[in-house]
Amino acid sequence: MAHKELLARHRAVMPKWLALYYDEPIEIASASGRRVTDREGTTYLDFFAGILTNAIGYDVAEISDAIRSQLDTGVLHSSTLYLIQSQVELAEKIAELSGIPDAKVFFTNSGTEANETALMLATQARRSEQVLALRNSYHGRAFATIAITGNRGWSASALSPIKVSWVHGGYRYRSPFKSFNDADYIKACVDDLREIIETTTSGDVACMIAEPIQGVGGFTSPPDGLFRAFKDVLDEYGILFVSDEVQTGWGRTGEHFWGIQAHDVVPDAMTFAKGLGNGLAIGGVVARGDLMDTINANSISTFGGNPISTAGALATVNYLLDHDLQANAAKLGSRLLSGLREIAEKHPVIGDVRGKGLMVGVEFVGPEGEPNGAAAATVLNESRARGLLVGKGGLYGNVIRLAPPMTLTEDELEEALGILAQAVEKA
Ligand code: PMP
Repeated sequence: MAHKELLARHRAVMPKWLALYYDEPIEIASASGRRVTDREGTTYLDFFAGILTNAIGYDVAEISDAIRSQLDTGVLHSSTLYLIQSQVELAEKIAELSGIPDAKVFFTNSGTEANETALMLATQARRSEQVLALRNSYHGRAFATIAITGNRGWSASALSPIKVSWVHGGYRYRSPFKSFNDADYIKACVDDLREIIETTTSGDVACMIAEPIQGVGGFTSPPDGLFRAFKDVLDEYGILFVSDEVQTGWGRTGEHFWGIQAHDVVPDAMTFAKGLGNGLAIGGVVARGDLMDTINANSISTFGGNPISTAGALATVNYLLDHDLQANAAKLGSRLLSGLREIAEKHPVIGDVRGKGLMVGVEFVGPEGEPNGAAAATVLNESRARGLLVGKGGLYGNVIRLAPPMTLTEDELEEALGILAQAVEKA
């Protein structure tokens, strides 16, 4: 089918709010390593797939083999009512990697469901519908998760069963405490948190949920230690802490396996999804066993933890551990940051370069430092025209997000930096 016809039919039959990138969206026909090829035969270096779907890269033999072995049994899925070996093995591995004492794992199909589950656990355990969430957050597209998503552009409805209070701290670049040094910034956020609890809640809050680095919000990274300081306050009130690791997990931040570890915090629960399946639909929650077992009613997910997804995800986790991709993310991530900072020095249209490991955001600004969404859109389009796919995000759509698969090579990194330097010239 011709590309234009497919686009017209997509627009006619799919909802208008289903976001598509580019005026002429790409249809990916094949992929290998860190490159994708569209229906017209154009190949792109993919600097966004790492978080979206393919944490490791496309067409990884070990992962394809694991999925194929499961396909060969003839069982795509039976039911989570029966035992599934790869599901149990994956749960054991994640429980161990989580660092959460006596951890238990529940699998879902998506990050949204994972966060819905974490909210269910926390609200049930604390018998409270009050939740603390960070401004500028994104946690999913279902009824409770849109309520804890602090971004009007991505929160489809204001109606929700959850009572949310909004906390400062995630998005430092446009925070009222922006000019403070790290210690003063953390103190200001902590004082604010205490005031929020005292003035907008009954004190019996179920949990705080937070992304250690906000993803959709534009890869905003608060100073290390912020969540430690938050957690000390939460502990005083008995409030649980949930770390949304949907984007920050699996070593992507380079220095740690989970984003929250930069803050020296062991959360009560963590949620994960996206890259774990390296393209397959899987998500889940890992939580303290007593918190997980707070639910007494039956609750299953028909497809959560199905054997195709868990076989692929287990192979993905083993691959990234065996090849120490966390170390690769740390090494190449620091070059990505420094390369982008060199570009930023020459271009005042870049207001901020931030992030950790292979999760780096570039915020575009106007002459007065105001958000410059047009510049980010230009960089998105000009990068594509030169064979590089990048992500866009941020509260004002003015951030370019770079999150390549973790198997990225140095040559590919330099190639991307060269293209980005040219694309920024056009902004
Ligand atoms: N949490 C975070 C931090 C996310 O970035 C996303 C997806 N952008 C989600 C949750 C929701 O995941 P999903 O799209 O798989 O439902």
